[in-house]
Amino acid sequence: VCTSDEFVYLENISKSFGKLEALKNVSLKLERNKITSLVGDNGSGKSTLIKVLSGSLKPNNGTIHINGKAYKHLTPKIANENGISTVYQDLSLDNYKDAVGNIFLGKEVTKFGFILNYNEMQKQTEKLLEKLEIDIPYLRTPVGYLSGGQRQSVAIARSIFQGKKLIIFDEPTAAMGLKESIAANKLIKSLPSKGFTVLMISHDLNQVFDIADRIFVMRNGEIIKDAVKSDITLTELKAGISEIY
Ligand code: ADP
Ligand code: MG
Repeated sequence: VCTSDEFVYLENISKSFGKLEALKNVSLKLERNKITSLVGDNGSGKSTLIKVLSGSLKPNNGTIHINGKAYKHLTPKIANENGISTVYQDLSLDNYKDAVGNIFLGKEVTKFGFILNYNEMQKQTEKLLEKLEIDIPYLRTPVGYLSGGQRQSVAIARSIFQGKKLIIFDEPTAAMGLKESIAANKLIKSLPSKGFTVLMISHDLNQVFDIADRIFVMRNGEIIKDAVKSDITLTELKAGISEIY
């Protein structure tokens, strides 16, 4: 089971697609208010693992422990109710809606049944973004017109606004320019101090080393290395990974 310091414990998770074993007995713990990173070559099973954790794929075997509760598999609804949200590169926002509309998506009605007016939603959005130190100058512009980094920030703000506690990123900065990815890294790095747990998949070892507290390396559906960041250097991480591949 999970200790109180652990948000998630994936225990011996296996997932096959036909003959292909995408995950072979993978176990991994996500410590609360920490950033855990998953690295590994294309096809090593990273996205499959986060789909199991976000409830969009059923594992063939294993147990998913969240906050001490044990599940054989999740659904997106159960993952949601447990405070888990995934920030994908582009897919999760409605590009025709502005930042306010995206952050409030599905939450426009208050507890008392009143529909919030847009100015009220915008005020709350401004307050939230200020607290998160997120700078989105165009709150009323459809997010399709914003930059990749700004859309990413809107998606993070939405997860937080909607009460999520574990935020999963799949290659968050893959499509970003340098300045944008620096801003995104800064924001992700600040999440633990604001009470969030982060799981981040990335190819960028510099980024991983910069922001992760713990690093898991996957290959062919298995975790082949588990390192606490304070125990290794970037050079060792890079050397270890090139040796592994
Ligand atoms: P990664 O995210 O590390 O690049 P994935 O988890 O996407 O890897 O994929 C792991 C393996 O599972 C790959 O060989 C991939 O082709 C396969 N795979 C992933 N999803 C499916 C699917 N829906 N159907 C069949 N094979 C899949
Ligand atoms: Mg992937």
